[in-house]
Amino acid sequence: MCTVRRAHVLVYKGKAEVIERLDKPLRSSTGSFIWPPVIRLVHYVRVPRAIQRKISRRALFARDGWRCAYCGTTNGRLTLDHIVPRSKGGESIWENVVTACAPCNLRKGDRSLEQAGMALRTSPRAPTPTLFINGQKIDGAVPISELRAALDTALRDAGQPVPTRIPAAPTPASK
Ligand SMILES: [Zn+2]
Repeated sequence: MCTVRRAHVLVYKGKAEVIERLDKPLRSSTGSFIWPPVIRLVHYVRVPRAIQRKISRRALFARDGWRCAYCGTTNGRLTLDHIVPRSKGGESIWENVVTACAPCNLRKGDRSLEQAGMALRTSPRAPTPTLFINGQKIDGAVPISELRAALDTALRDAGQPVPTRIPAAPTPASK
């Protein structure tokens, strides 16, 4: 969840950068500052541990494209597999879990990749961090107009005026 205040803190701390500015600075009791209506995360922002703790199967399968990380099949029952088995101290973190079809999971069993003679098709990572503004999910695929709408709502909810914006520069043709 990213409040307007948090968005500003992220920019201030250099974790996000402003990609679009308002024509009027917002004023607060401590002074005025340029408000970032559209920001882009520059660095990975730590997700609170409570949220990070449990990785749902659905989120994992979605990250892996509903495909077995070992054989690549999209058929059959998918399971969550720990690369380093939990019995060997493997953690339930994004980097240590992959989607595996039931036969691959069974074949690997309680062994390491080397012991099982198996290889991963891709190296597992945490999904791209997602920015939430007032509970609304914002990601790279969201059009700027939706981002603006979300921020307008956030400003209104925070009891702040919604400023007039400089018209957006024409979007360069995508590569
Ligand atoms: Zn498989």
